[in-house]
Amino acid sequence: MIEIKDLHKSYKVGKNALHVLKGINFNIEEGELVAIMGSSGSGKSTLLNIIGMLDVADKGSYTLDGVPIKDLDETKAAKYRNKFLGFIFQSFNLINYKTALENVALPLYYQKVPRKERNEKAMKYLKDVGIDDWATHLPSELSGGQKQRVAIARAMAAESKVLLADEPTGALDSTTSYEVMQLIQEINDSGKTILVVTHENDIANMCKRIVLLKDGVIIEDKKINQVWASDHV
Ligand code: ADP
Ligand code: MG
Repeated sequence: MIEIKDLHKSYKVGKNALHVLKGINFNIEEGELVAIMGSSGSGKSTLLNIIGMLDVADKGSYTLDGVPIKDLDETKAAKYRNKFLGFIFQSFNLINYKTALENVALPLYYQKVPRKERNEKAMKYLKDVGIDDWATHLPSELSGGQKQRVAIARAMAAESKVLLADEPTGALDSTTSYEVMQLIQEINDSGKTILVVTHENDIANMCKRIVLLKDGVIIEDKKINQVWASDHV
């Protein structure tokens, strides 16, 4: 699904270049649940933003579902991003004057789905994430965990192939973080490919594979065996 070869990225900081990604190589198969782990500043968001086509690498190749991303013009890239990639952010990024239902229905509006159908679909996804009772509420009336559920429902409504989550539990307490990660696991169980960026060990351990970033390279890439579940009962 995702193939990354020798990816490099630098930022200009004043006169200097800050070399953040120094040759990243890894592949992600369809259906994986992968944590990208590393301390703050290790380049996790930079990598995720490149995978999410929100930013471009300086060097190296990125292939998504067999298509080399570099070769796409802007219109194709936008189409491709909408079709393949859904985003979940630490700060939820909900529109605060729209209800939970309207937030979830928004990507469907952009896909030109008729109003009745998009509201039905949005309601279904709110139900899937367990907050259909809150459909008519504004984000300001929801807890952090509820807001993240709305954001997850919104990402699912777009029916992208891959979900990219940048510190999805970063603004949540540990119980709520655990519940949100359980929801992410359930979505993965239904077949969705998911990447979770985190700097927290327990969050990474709820994924099926951990890719560890340090000083711009991957220093470890390991599969997790899912015995953790019993530890939390
Ligand atoms: P992480 O998500 O692992 O905390 P980031 O990818 O956000 O790390 O950042 C990696 C490094 O690149 C940090 O030192 C950060 O300050 C720097 N950085 C990130 N974005 C920019 C930018 N747009 N311009 C300059 N430096 C940046
Ligand atoms: Mg980050």
